[in-house]
Amino acid sequence: MKIPDQPKTSIVIFGATGDLAKRKLFPSIFNLYRKGNISEEFAVVGVARRPWTNEVLREKVCEAVTDVFDVEQDKLDRFVNHFNYLPFDVTGKESYHELKKQLTQLEGDYNIPGNRIFYMAMAPEFFGTIASNLKSEGVTEANGWTRLVIEKPFGHDLSSAKKLNEDIREAFNEDDIYRIDHYLGKEMVQNIEVIRFANAMFEPLWNNRYISNIQITSSEALGVEDRGGYYETSGALRDMVQNHMLQMVSLLAMDPPIRLSTDEIRSEKIKVLRALRMVNGEEVDNYFVRGQYGPGIIRGNEVPGYRSEKNVDPNSKTETFVAGKLLIDNHRWAGVPFYIRTGKRMGLKSTKIVIQFKELPLNLYFNKNQKKIHPNILIIHIQPDEGISLVLNGKKVGPSGETTPVQLDYSNDGIDTVNTPEAYERLLLDCMLGDAANFTHWDEVELSWTYVDEISKGWVTSTKQIPLYDSGSMGPKEADDLLGKDGFQWWPIKEV
Ligand code: NAD
Repeated sequence: MKIPDQPKTSIVIFGATGDLAKRKLFPSIFNLYRKGNISEEFAVVGVARRPWTNEVLREKVCEAVTDVFDVEQDKLDRFVNHFNYLPFDVTGKESYHELKKQLTQLEGDYNIPGNRIFYMAMAPEFFGTIASNLKSEGVTEANGWTRLVIEKPFGHDLSSAKKLNEDIREAFNEDDIYRIDHYLGKEMVQNIEVIRFANAMFEPLWNNRYISNIQITSSEALGVEDRGGYYETSGALRDMVQNHMLQMVSLLAMDPPIRLSTDEIRSEKIKVLRALRMVNGEEVDNYFVRGQYGPGIIRGNEVPGYRSEKNVDPNSKTETFVAGKLLIDNHRWAGVPFYIRTGKRMGLKSTKIVIQFKELPLNLYFNKNQKKIHPNILIIHIQPDEGISLVLNGKKVGPSGETTPVQLDYSNDGIDTVNTPEAYERLLLDCMLGDAANFTHWDEVELSWTYVDEISKGWVTSTKQIPLYDSGSMGPKEADDLLGKDGFQWWPIKEV
């Protein structure tokens, strides 16, 4: 049965022989096909330098899909027939004519009304050239719509991001540019808005009268693996804070949009980024902590420190960890710190948001050892667990009258994950349907680079040494002190 919104489109994947195409894009397109979100009326053209043929690409797509899913061979054969391969160097203009010819042919074969997605699964230095060649060689002149999907990193700082944006804007309108932040495709990140705006018990409390602080942690257990060369030019601030962490801050802090349209949601998120208090260079060490992983032992195995990794300078000052305190100067959030921390080679892979509520004005009850009662906290588990926990206080059973924290857990783990789309699958479908709400607008990119560039500048002049943290820990002690000096600590701590 056809669903009304089944989009009909061609997708050109630039960088079709690369890692992103193999691990994310091919399985995601297959899942959309298998579930009937797209019909037989689609085609994919893979572009890269390697001298593959259609058959080689189809074999690779089969491998990529069967690595992830158990599938019927018939279905897979029908699916991969929609894939074609064009080997060319994207920097030369000549081959774009062939691409245009092939797209026109495929549109006829598959009854596609001239809708084209150009997916940049390549290094960012090519984005501008590809966009400009697509336009100058007439590939963007289609009968339907044309959209450009761009991967991170979107620039290296504000000026390079502006330059990149100018280049791609010569060929595409802002409304046709889909800047991927794959965090925005995650189930529980999308759930932030639902938790906030569909629950009468949260939204009235979602402000500085009732919330004492918000903590966002995104930790990885892996080190830089074989991406040392890239990471040396990036570091955790540019790799994680400029995009994923600031996107989560804006979703948590935004005002309710008047409706769930792309423009209304983006406009509320942009207001949050505009209200972020800039951290001036000389104050950077009061608000931000960086760290770098040293050697350590993870699950019984010795692991090297960052400076001993492949393609990393042995004297590198690149941060593999960042913690920061962000302040949002508006009526809703004045005085409430948003703490963020992210890093590699930490104790566990986890992304969680913790909302800590303020204490009651008068405390009648006490915890064990006559300590103050536990604060109410709401935890949003983003990955790998998905769900919500709410920590309340209850009476400890027995005569003492003591309170005890009670944790209520809702978990998505029991839900049929076969039907839960992966972030890329969701975002690809959104792009085909023209829904850009979960993609990043240029204004968001510009504001987040403006914020992050000030921190980078401060670090250049700061005389503070970058602390090393043990691999397998939760970062340097300085990150704990950042909260400690405000009277807080990172949750969840062991004993509630
Ligand atoms: P990759 O190095 O594995 O693949 C790069 C692709 O570009 C290859 O297909 C290569 O043939 C092609 N290519 C390079 N130069 C070319 C040229 N001149 N002409 C034609 N083709 C050329 O890279 P990747 O890991 O797939 O990453 C692609 C992009 O996605 C990057 O911007 C990366 O930062 C981003 N990204 C990747 C991941 C991931 O999981 N791999 C995650 C997030 C973002």
